[in-house]
Amino acid sequence: AKFAIVDIETCIACGACGAAAPKIFSYDDEGLSYVLIDGNTGTKKISRLLVDDLYDAYEGCPTDSIKISDIPFNKEPTNV
Ligand code: SF4
Repeated sequence: AKFAIVDIETCIACGACGAAAPKIFSYDDEGLSYVLIDGNTGTKKISRLLVDDLYDAYEGCPTDSIKISDIPFNKEPTNV
């Protein structure tokens, strides 16, 4: 399984990840990205069907702000 988060300390709100993977990423009021399914906590598995999109976004992020792991991140939500 794959889990993902966006590091909002380094995200520059460029919009690339949502273009690559619109079912995974959305943006807060400032345009900072977060993972939709779990409020950017990295606690819910990314659907197997979306993993290719996830890696497209990961590779396309200009600031390496997308983090992917085989285990949950368990971060505090960032989109609230
Ligand atoms: Fe932020 Fe990276 Fe997504 Fe751009 S591609 S909005 S820098 S996470």
